[in-house]
Amino acid sequence: MNVEETLAQISKEVSTCQKCALYHSRKLAVPGEGPANSEIMFIGEGPGFHENEQGRPFVGAAGNFLNELLAQAGLKRTDVWIGNVVKCRPPGNRDPLPEELSACDGYLERQIAAINPKIVITLGRFSMGKYLPGAKISSVHGQMRRVGDRFVIAMFHPAAALHQAALRPSILKDFSLLPNMLEQARAALKRSGPVKVEEPKEEPKQLSLF
Ligand code: URA
Ligand code: SF4
Repeated sequence: MNVEETLAQISKEVSTCQKCALYHSRKLAVPGEGPANSEIMFIGEGPGFHENEQGRPFVGAAGNFLNELLAQAGLKRTDVWIGNVVKCRPPGNRDPLPEELSACDGYLERQIAAINPKIVITLGRFSMGKYLPGAKISSVHGQMRRVGDRFVIAMFHPAAALHQAALRPSILKDFSLLPNMLEQARAALKRSGPVKVEEPKEEPKQLSLF
């Protein structure tokens, strides 16, 4: 299976999944979307009202703000992968429960492994908790950290920044630094990537002048 097929397979499994109680109340599961070769993956919390209706991530007010933030960073929504730690809407937008997070995590793990992005950006505390358990978002946001084969940057959730005007300058700044961080991530991963064994070069042939 190539990466597109793997991602389509995961989306198919998610659409009929019954691994946690959230399947009872969902209308449409939201597997996540974006190019198979995305260098950046954004991981939010879970579908809200509009996402549950449409089966697509970040299509409500928080999504509109995310689109603006991406544009500001010179990125199109279609350049990046966008998904969530839980794929079905928690009733009334309540926080996802620990058992729901752990039941759903396998899908996200497979999506990340298939796409192999250079940067994972966590939006809000639930996806941050996957990589930086116990971290305080107010102190770690916008910092790029190496985690295994990639870099992780925690950012505020766009919905939080919509509701708390005081967070806006921080989220705007973090997004504005993204092009530069992507360059850094590309360079660092290139340096530390698998060492390629050079094919022995053929000796240049001596031209006989006689
Ligand atoms: N908020 C999220 O965390 N995810 C979505 O998909 C939409 C809003
Ligand atoms: Fe399955 Fe995840 Fe939906 Fe729970 S939230 S039913 S684990 S897809």
